[in-house]
Amino acid sequence: MNDRPAPPRRRTLTTADYVDGVRKGDRMVLARAITLVESRNPAHREQAAEVLSALTADAGKAQRVGITGVPGVGKSTFIDTLGSNLTAAGHRVAVLAVDPTSSRTGGSILGDKTRMARLAIDDRAFVRPSPSAGTLGGVTRRTRETMLLCEAAGYDIVLVETVGVGQSETAVADMVDFFLVLMIAGAGDELQGIKKGVLEVADMIAINKADGENERRARRAAGDYRSALNIMTPRTADWRPPVVVCSALANTGVEDLWSRIGDHREMMEASGALTRLRQRQNVRWMWDVIEDRLLDRFRSDDRVAAMLADLETAVESGNMPAGVAADRLIAGFLDD
Ligand code: GDP
Repeated sequence: MNDRPAPPRRRTLTTADYVDGVRKGDRMVLARAITLVESRNPAHREQAAEVLSALTADAGKAQRVGITGVPGVGKSTFIDTLGSNLTAAGHRVAVLAVDPTSSRTGGSILGDKTRMARLAIDDRAFVRPSPSAGTLGGVTRRTRETMLLCEAAGYDIVLVETVGVGQSETAVADMVDFFLVLMIAGAGDELQGIKKGVLEVADMIAINKADGENERRARRAAGDYRSALNIMTPRTADWRPPVVVCSALANTGVEDLWSRIGDHREMMEASGALTRLRQRQNVRWMWDVIEDRLLDRFRSDDRVAAMLADLETAVESGNMPAGVAADRLIAGFLDD
């Protein structure tokens, strides 16, 4: 009945295949290399480490920009517009995402190709959804490694998108050179970001949807943010985060916004601040990986598993201090 030939099995790639393919900018190999660094399988991890080590010298040359904003603010529209402007100007753009909620919802909404209609079919762009399993630390580690692979593949601009919830925006601010916060003008929410501390990591605020009847309100909101930022310490010395307005839909203000990101880069390069920032980020990255890997080992340890339920119950009911239970678990884990 079914006499169709079986599809050919995907050839297993050697480390050299991965390294050469990524260097050549082969999209299929790049996608498979990303799958490899996302894998939890120990053998894959070992090979991923080899691939990453071999490619480290090719990476690091891209401009890394983080973008955040609450759902509906226009992130995907903005990235589609900005990204298309950039590819039209000759750049190669990778779009990555950090969405730790996707491990709970079972799927990532960020970085979904269907949200960025033009970039999805642009062969100078590469759009990759958020890794969908694990803790924020795990998701962040994988996104950083994916960024490295994309840079080695020749993408000279990396846009990292995140939702404006929880800790993910700080995590993304920690892996990029420039952090952009998108906002919209709206009743009572002009200063929403201040409460959430997101302004502390912002290098620029853009009030999106400044088109039609909304333009005046957007300009007024921009004024409010300017005053608010005046009383805050900027993330980088010598850089006062500008507040701009734009329309992702009409593609107005987006070019000006990008040129200011360029100003920031020039300033950071000239002063050596970019090198120092990257150095600090690399060390933090190492510690994030240590935490992620140790916790992974800890959680999958048999001795820990054997003790965990009882100790959790004891802590829950107040019969044992949390610190004592934690010490016992760690002692069990470390015991030879
Ligand atoms: P996200 O959830 O932050 O990714 O937001 P989307 O990009 O999906 O945009 C949410 C809605 O806002 C969509 O209906 C967009 O068409 C609309 N939108 C996005 N940017 C603009 C803009 O600059 N002006 C206007 N008027 N609408 C926009």
